[in-house]
Amino acid sequence: MDALGGAGERQLPVPPAARPAPLWAFGAGPDIAPDIAMVMRPPAAPRRLLARLRALMAGDEAPLAELVRLVASELVSEVCSIYALRPGEILELVATEGLYPDAVGRTRLRLGEGIVGIVAASGHLLNLPDAQNHPAFAYRPETGEELYASLLAVPVRRGGRVLGVLAVQNRAVRRYTEDEVEVLETVAMVLAELFAATTQDGAETIFTTTVQRRFVGTRLMGGIAVGPVILHGAGPPPRNLLASDPQAEMERLMAAARRMQSGLDELIEQSLSSVSEAESAEDGVSLDEGALSEGAKAASREVLEAYRLLAADSGWLRRVRDAVGSGLTAEAAVHRVSGEIREKMRKIADPYMRERLADMEDLALRLLAVLDGAEHGPVPPGAILVARRLGPAELLNWHGRGIAGVAIEEGTTGGHAAIIARALGLPALGDLPNLMDAVDEGDTAIVDAEQGLLIFRPEEEMRIAYLRAREASQAKLAHWAELRERPSRSKDGTPFTLMLNMGLTLELDQLDLTGAAGIGLFRTEIAMLAHGRMLDAREQAEIYDRVLTQAGDRPVMFRTLDLGGDKMLAESGVSVEENPAMGWRSLRVGLDRPAVMRRQLRALIQAARGRPLSVMFPMVATLAEFRAARALLQAEIERADSPPATLEVGSMLEVPSLLWQLSDLLAEVDFLSIGTNDLLQFLFAADRGTPALAGRYDFLSPAMLDLLEEVSIAAHNTGCRLSVCGEASSRPLEVLVMAALGISTFSMAASAFPAVKEAVSLCDLPALRRVLMSIRGGEKGASSYREPLVSWCREQGLDI
Ligand code: PEP
Ligand code: MG
Repeated sequence: MDALGGAGERQLPVPPAARPAPLWAFGAGPDIAPDIAMVMRPPAAPRRLLARLRALMAGDEAPLAELVRLVASELVSEVCSIYALRPGEILELVATEGLYPDAVGRTRLRLGEGIVGIVAASGHLLNLPDAQNHPAFAYRPETGEELYASLLAVPVRRGGRVLGVLAVQNRAVRRYTEDEVEVLETVAMVLAELFAATTQDGAETIFTTTVQRRFVGTRLMGGIAVGPVILHGAGPPPRNLLASDPQAEMERLMAAARRMQSGLDELIEQSLSSVSEAESAEDGVSLDEGALSEGAKAASREVLEAYRLLAADSGWLRRVRDAVGSGLTAEAAVHRVSGEIREKMRKIADPYMRERLADMEDLALRLLAVLDGAEHGPVPPGAILVARRLGPAELLNWHGRGIAGVAIEEGTTGGHAAIIARALGLPALGDLPNLMDAVDEGDTAIVDAEQGLLIFRPEEEMRIAYLRAREASQAKLAHWAELRERPSRSKDGTPFTLMLNMGLTLELDQLDLTGAAGIGLFRTEIAMLAHGRMLDAREQAEIYDRVLTQAGDRPVMFRTLDLGGDKMLAESGVSVEENPAMGWRSLRVGLDRPAVMRRQLRALIQAARGRPLSVMFPMVATLAEFRAARALLQAEIERADSPPATLEVGSMLEVPSLLWQLSDLLAEVDFLSIGTNDLLQFLFAADRGTPALAGRYDFLSPAMLDLLEEVSIAAHNTGCRLSVCGEASSRPLEVLVMAALGISTFSMAASAFPAVKEAVSLCDLPALRRVLMSIRGGEKGASSYREPLVSWCREQGLDI
C-alpha cells in the first residue's frame, strides 16, 4: 500500500450502524460531500513564491517592503498591502506595493472598520470583485485606492489571534481564484511567524497586539490560576515554515508517516487483542471471556481498522504531501492541513461528518508529534492546560507534571475530568465553545473559576490584580482551617457526618486538613487510570493498605472498580460503545469478569488484615446483581487467611430501577450510598457529559426531591445507614435541602468541605424543613425549587 496516498478510489469499510458512504475517503469521486471535497482540493504549488520568500526571510532586515513586492508580482496584482494590529485595536498600514507610499504609517482603521477591519475582527477572508460598492468600504484618500475594484483580504492569524491583514487589489472587477486565495493564505501564515518572531525578539514593537479574549464558561472547580497556556494535543505552530530542500523534506514526511502508521498499527493491535485476548496475568483467566458478543467485537475491530485506513491512504495525507511539494516544511504542511480540518469542523453540524473530521485532526496531531520526535517538555510554572476534551487519566498525568489550572472546551460539571479537578483542588472551567480556536500556546491566561471566566492575553494590571486575588483566596483557605475544630452540627444542634470522596493516596492528607469523619467514597479505579493500566493484586493491596493506615479509626468505604463510561482503560476489555454511560461498565464488567473482581476483593481483604473493611458496589441495577457481587466477596472472605475484623457491604443507588426493590435491598445491605451524578443522569435520561444538557435538569427538582425523600424514609424505617456521595453533596444548598429531607451523612470533594461545613453550621434545619415543605406544597409544575430556596438562604445570611 502506498502509505502516502494515491489510493483515493479505495472504499473504506462502513463503520457500525447504517451510515452513509465513507465520506472521509477523500477523492473517492461522486460520494464526496462538497464541503469536505473542498478541504482536499489539491493546492496550487507556489513553490517559486515560497522559495523566494525563504530567501527573503533569510536576510537580516524585516522584509515587509520586499514581501509585498514579491506577492504583487507573483499574483499579478496591482496592489499588495500589509496591515498590522496595534495596541488599542488599530490596524495600521505597514507596507504596500501599489498604494501611495506616504500612506504607510498614516492609514489607520479601527478593528471592524472598512473591509480590512472586518477581516481582522472576524478572522475570515473576504474575496470581493467590486470592493468599492461593498457597504463597509472605508475610503482613505491618502492611499489612492479608488483606482482598484477587486480586493482579496486574508487575516494574518497565529493560533486564535489575528495579528493583521494581508490584502491584494486589482483594477479589474474580478473574483480571485481558489488557488490565488490559497497562495495568499500561505503567505499570511509566513507573515504571522514573522510578526511573532519580531515581537518576541523585541526587535520591533509594532507587531504587538493586546487583543484580549474572554470566555464565560462553567465552573468545574473553583479557584484562580494565572499562567501560560499549554495546549493539550496540539503543539505551537512550527517556527520553521519553509523547507530548504523540498525533496529531503518529502522523505522526512514519508518516514514520519510510516512511523506514525506502524505506531498506530501497534496501538490498534493492542486494543484489538485486549478486546479478544487480554488475560489476567495473575489469574490466568481471560478478561474478556465470552462477554463481548461477536457482533460487538466485529464492530470495534471495524472502527479501528477504518481509523487505520484513514491514517494510511486517504486524501488528507496526500494533501499534506502536496503542501510539502510546494515548499513548506512537513510541520507547516501538517499544521496547515489540520487548521483547514478544524475550520471545516466549525462549519459542519452533522455529527457523523464531525466525527470523521475529528479523527483526521487526531491523526494530524499524531503526525506532528512524530515529526517533533519529542514528548511534551516540562510544564512552566503556573501553566494552564487548555483542551478540547480531556479524560480523567490525562488530567491526572498533567496534574502530576505541575499544571495550575485547566480549561476544557467540552467539559461538564458531571464529567470525570471535573470530578478529578475537584479532588485535586485544581481550578477548572468547562463548557467553553470555540475555545481551542482562540488560544495560542504560551498565551497568558487567567482562569477565574469563581466567576466562570477565562481570559487570554490580559492587560498587565489585570494579571496583577488576579495574582493578588489568588493570594487572598489562599488566605481564605487558611481561615477554613479554623472550621476544622468545630463539630459538624447544624445551628439547631442536628449532628452531621461529613466525609471525603477520593481516589488517590496523595489526597489522604486532606483527611487531617479538613477534619473529615472518614472517606465516604474511595474510587478505586482512579489509581488504575492514573497508572494507565490495571494494577495487580499486590499493587492494589499496597494502595488500600495505605488508605486504611492513614484513615486510622475513620471509616473508609471502598467502591469496587467503576470503569467504562468516560473512565476508559484500554486493558479493561471495555470497548468503544455507542452509548458508554449505559453500556458494559462498572459492576456489569465486574460480574462478567469475576476474575478481575475477585482479584480486587482479595486485595481489599489482604489490605484490611484484621481491620474493619467496608466495600460498596457501583451501578447496581437489580437486587440480584448486589447478591451476586456480595457472594463473590463472601467467597473471598472464606478463603482468606486473615479476614477483616468486621465487614460491611453496601450498594450505591445510581440506577433508578433499584427504587422498585428498595425495601428488599435495604434489608440486605449494611449501608446505601446515593451516587447523585449517575442517578440524575439516568432519572432524566440526560447524559452527564453533554455540555448542551448541563443545568437543564436541576437536582433541586420535584422529581429528585420526591425520590430522595422516599429513600430517606425507607432507610429510617429499616434502620439502614444512608449517605450521599455524588457531586450534589459538594454543594452547600443541595446538602442543606437533602438534610431537610432527613439525610445527615455526606461525602464530598475536599475542596468543597469547608463551605459545606460552614453552611451546615449556620442553618436552622427545622426552619428550612418548614420552608421546603411549603415550597413543595405550593404551585405545581415547577421544574426547580432552586430560586425560592436560594432567596430564603440569603435572607438567613447563608452565603449559598
Ligand atoms: C455518582 O455517580 O454520583 C458517583 C459518585 O459515581 P461516579 O461519579 O464516580 O460515577
Ligand atoms: Mg457513578
